[in-house]
Amino acid sequence: MSNDRTRRLSLDLLALDLNDRAALVAFVAAHAVAPARTLLGMDRPHPGEGEITRSRSLTFNALDMRPMWPNETHPIAEVEAFMRGFLLARFLFPGAIDSQFVHADFIDLPGSSVFERAFPLSWLRWPALEVLVDGLYRVGPGRPDEPTISRHYVPSQSSLGQLAEAQALVRSALGEPDDFAARVDIGLQAMSHSAAMSLDAVLRRDSRTRLVWLLDTEWVFDSDGPDPGEAIPLDVDRGVFAAVIPESLLGLVALDFVETLRMDPRTGKCAQCGQPVVLTPQQASRARKGEPIYHEDCGAEHRVRYVRDCQRRRRQNAAPNLTPSHG
Ligand SMILES: [Zn+2]
Repeated sequence: MSNDRTRRLSLDLLALDLNDRAALVAFVAAHAVAPARTLLGMDRPHPGEGEITRSRSLTFNALDMRPMWPNETHPIAEVEAFMRGFLLARFLFPGAIDSQFVHADFIDLPGSSVFERAFPLSWLRWPALEVLVDGLYRVGPGRPDEPTISRHYVPSQSSLGQLAEAQALVRSALGEPDDFAARVDIGLQAMSHSAAMSLDAVLRRDSRTRLVWLLDTEWVFDSDGPDPGEAIPLDVDRGVFAAVIPESLLGLVALDFVETLRMDPRTGKCAQCGQPVVLTPQQASRARKGEPIYHEDCGAEHRVRYVRDCQRRRRQNAAPNLTPSHG
């Protein structure tokens, strides 16, 4: 689940070349960092980004300068997308992302300190992601020079193997269904017996429906307390919701994949990056008319290039008129 309706973790993983480090960086940016950035009102990560820009204001606690929940109600879909992205980062780079200010384990209390956890993840810029990903391939230092990443972080030796296993699972699920049983088409996706059994076994073992309790500790002054000048920790409860929380990378990918079974099965090919796009109804009609379709972020990139090209062409066409005449 990403904030981009046209992108799915499992389908992007299916198309990912695991020997291509740059492609893996883009995958982590889209599925781990982007949802955290959205939650905090920051722009999506992109290669060559300078200062991270913010489209929405974020409140910081004046006492410890940690990010806080905004005052307005926050879309739970954004929180859920962040939790999936956070888990992807945690499974790929265990020990790198968790904030030192968070004391509960994510799996024990998935809803605790949501904004606090999102902060170090959202703050990872493209070059830092490149160093993190290089670490999985045993290239370079493996630990970016980022204050939010633990000095003790050591890249995991098993992350790439886990990604390959998850990729193989999705590949087998989308492979040819076998003739295990007589098949009747009632509009559902067909799957081979072995793929269906494996997917179900992973979901049964590694993903659970949880009651997510949004709990934060915030530092406050108690003006009626014995010492009004002393900061005290206050537990703040923002209520509960149900969500499926995967407990392994395989579980995360399997969950994302089975969710796509409920969606419109039509996918297309992005005219910008060439990867599969989950079609929105508008895009499906564009595709039928033979018009190009894009991922939401690729479409934005395409528009920027298009406007730039137009401006350049206009400047080139206008150039002769700009030459001062000496007549
Ligand atoms: Zn694309």
